[in-house]
Amino acid sequence: MSPVDAVIFDWGGTLTPWHTVDLRDQWSAYTRVYDRDRADELAGLLLTAETEAWQAAREHQRSGTMDELLRGVGIEPAGSQHAAALAAYQEFWIPHTLIDPDVPRLLQELRGRGIKVGVLSNTLWSREYHEEVFRRDGILHLVDGAVYSSEIPYTKPHPEAFRAAMAAVGVADPSRVVFVGDRPYDDVHGAKAVGMRAVLVPHSDIPAEQRGSVEGEPDAVVHRLADLVGVLDGWAADG
Ligand SMILES: [Mg+2]
Repeated sequence: MSPVDAVIFDWGGTLTPWHTVDLRDQWSAYTRVYDRDRADELAGLLLTAETEAWQAAREHQRSGTMDELLRGVGIEPAGSQHAAALAAYQEFWIPHTLIDPDVPRLLQELRGRGIKVGVLSNTLWSREYHEEVFRRDGILHLVDGAVYSSEIPYTKPHPEAFRAAMAAVGVADPSRVVFVGDRPYDDVHGAKAVGMRAVLVPHSDIPAEQRGSVEGEPDAVVHRLADLVGVLDGWAADG
């Protein structure tokens, strides 16, 4: 019998290959459409607000949302002006949100073995947007449960974030869960602290200010997501 009931994946840098994105440019994409005259000023304010949000996540595992960032700089995230700006923002992100080509087959393989597939992402974006991206890439129906930090009070590596992800896939025993992620602090340390096994995908160029105070020791490292199946088979053979 497989020693694994669920595999829960991080999103950015794991299910999607890592891209280094200019975070000011993403906000300019929004603000140029929202208010051309104040585009630079608002993009600067949003970048500062986002930096502070990620700092709160890293230091206190406190989550945030894109709507909160917008409201913080005086933008009400509603109405046609916002909708047009949000569309431009999401257009900016298209090339950086494409799923790793290994993923569809991997998720099918896991589900074929009776293993639940989960997602746990530290994100400011809504579930709706994440699901749209998964639907676009043809994998939404392969995900049994997902937790986005934007809809809970905590971010990884807070234990409650990992417990919420376990509840989302309906698995109670963390020792039978494998977490796959690209960040030694948020993902590997966080998963191991709640008793999961952790697999590191080591290709992300994580900025120094986003690294955590602790680095977890992964149980395995995979250079391609497709190699995960071999890792699970090895653990099954070990009993
Ligand atoms: Mg990541």
